[in-house]
Amino acid sequence: MSKKTNIAILGSTGSIGTQALEVISQNPDIFQVEILTANTNADLLIKQAIKYSPNTVVIIDELKYEYVKNTLFDHDIKVYTGKDALNYVVSFSTIDTVLSAIVGFAGLESTIAAIKTGKRIALANKESLVVAGKIITDLSKQYNAPIIPVDSEHSAIFQCLVGEDTSSVKNIYLTASGGPFRHKSLSELNNVTLSDALNHPKWNMGNKITIDSATLMNKGLEAIEAKYLFNLKPEQIEIVVHPESIIHSMVKFNDGSVKAQIGNPDMRVPIKYAFTFPYRIGTEFNNFDIFAHSSLHFEKPDLEKFPALNIALNVMKTGGNATCVLNAANEIAVNAFLNNKIKFTQISTLVEEALTRVDFIKEPTLNNLFETDKTTREISLKIIKEKL
Ligand code: NAD
Ligand code: MG
Repeated sequence: MSKKTNIAILGSTGSIGTQALEVISQNPDIFQVEILTANTNADLLIKQAIKYSPNTVVIIDELKYEYVKNTLFDHDIKVYTGKDALNYVVSFSTIDTVLSAIVGFAGLESTIAAIKTGKRIALANKESLVVAGKIITDLSKQYNAPIIPVDSEHSAIFQCLVGEDTSSVKNIYLTASGGPFRHKSLSELNNVTLSDALNHPKWNMGNKITIDSATLMNKGLEAIEAKYLFNLKPEQIEIVVHPESIIHSMVKFNDGSVKAQIGNPDMRVPIKYAFTFPYRIGTEFNNFDIFAHSSLHFEKPDLEKFPALNIALNVMKTGGNATCVLNAANEIAVNAFLNNKIKFTQISTLVEEALTRVDFIKEPTLNNLFETDKTTREISLKIIKEKL
């Protein structure tokens, strides 16, 4: 790599965003920050802007615009605000790679805008693939914008597939830690608290994905993500609970060979790989010690205890706008749980109910999906009010 890679980080104040900045800090000769964006956390955005001197920052929250602009007055940094600013700034020709690390459906539009400018997309925002997987992968081909997954399981599969003929893939094993409630009984799950659910055994992540990991909805979303990213049939995707979380996923080929990608659970590794692929660069973190892992375990997931995973796997087969309904209802449910409005077990109840109430569209357009998202959110809020 001769010139520096200029990176736009959408969602720079989040768990993935801040870890991406650590990767960049460790490799200042290789990476340059071009754009930073945040939803409401103006103070952290300002701190990051002063440290990394990007060309431009975006604060989505318009009420914080004056504050960010005034504080950065002495710095040569452009400041924009509002949702539409994201779609504009990703088009800057100075950007090489866009890290899509906004959480939820909110990341969809800017991911699509970035793809349409033909840049490399380092994709952490799994929800955009869940909602609009077919549209996104088609656009990625049309605009020659390679999508390199950041999600650790998908990075693992991507790495296992380098140099392979994809038609020789028999199936993939998508690994799951099992989350904080692997040992809880079905009845105990009724009484788990928010702080129990936020206490993930292996990964330190944003709140939404942490709750998704506790319900195992995260693994369902990831199955759908994998289906679209790697063009798989639902029956080629097998979920494996692997509590040690050092095998990040595996690919089984038609000759009986299985490839696994192994390492410490550290998101900086897949983030960096998405920036440097097809190259690898050295690291100062992550001393993997094989002798620290004398035994590894693999189990089938318990779909009765974790109905959210079961629902998501069924929705993966249904396809159409059902994956969008799944995602929107789950976002509302997780938010309600985070605000102590519903119980942990009601997350899957709500998603299941919403799925029965929204009209099915087999081949939705992007507009259909925006409509589906909006309707599902309204219906989900209604279900919470009336029933839960
Ligand atoms: P987070 O909540 O820590 O950060 C989210 C970021 O998005 C923040 O910078 C926030 O300002 C921004 N944001 C939130 N709502 C927004 C909105 N409406 N408009 C614009 N910006 C908004 O989330 P995270 O854990 O970093 O996850 C980000 C994405 O990466 C998610 O899709 C998640 O599933 C995926 N992911 C995360 C991890 C992880 O370890 N955290 C691992 C794999 C995949
Ligand atoms: Mg993951």
